[in-house]
Amino acid sequence: MYHELPRHASFWAFLFSIDQDLAEQARLKKCPCGGCLHRANYPRKPRGGGEDLPQEYDFRLSFCCEQEGCRKRVTPPSVRFLGRKVYLGAIVILVAAMRQGPSPRRVRELSRLFGADRRTIVRWQVFWREHVPQTPFWKAAHGRLVPGFEIALLPLSLLEAFLRGDDPFRSWERLLRFLAPITIAGGLAIEVS
Ligand SMILES: [Zn+2]
Repeated sequence: MYHELPRHASFWAFLFSIDQDLAEQARLKKCPCGGCLHRANYPRKPRGGGEDLPQEYDFRLSFCCEQEGCRKRVTPPSVRFLGRKVYLGAIVILVAAMRQGPSPRRVRELSRLFGADRRTIVRWQVFWREHVPQTPFWKAAHGRLVPGFEIALLPLSLLEAFLRGDDPFRSWERLLRFLAPITIAGGLAIEVS
């Protein structure tokens, strides 16, 4: 079973609108020092979206505290960008998942569709299988998943848990919002105890 990603302009615009909501929530919360937040977006050049990617994908929404002496950077969680990864978050999930299952898609085909080379795809597989389960986010959040959720089958098991029903936009929204805590600074750090 393979899950499709609706890779067209309206889907990318939909994800951008969610990022705008997440950014507005962060702006209203203000800086921890109490200062107001000013827009200070990061330039990005995301890959994997194809030709329909809207211009808004040239930056990640971010803020800077206006208080002299603080100037703290606040970058809200995102359903588009997975931390510093160059590829769009949805692509990093989907392509790694397509290499799993009883009849995995061939690397050559995935490279043609999404532009990622073999080494990149292998890195994503290791990322999901070995890195993500070690994060504090995962340890706190995996209890919210369905009973019997298979960590060993990440990220395919995530797609199967979230991509249900008739509305792929909403399904992807649920999945990407679930993962959003790992998209902020420190969100992918591993606790060393
Ligand atoms: Zn501040």
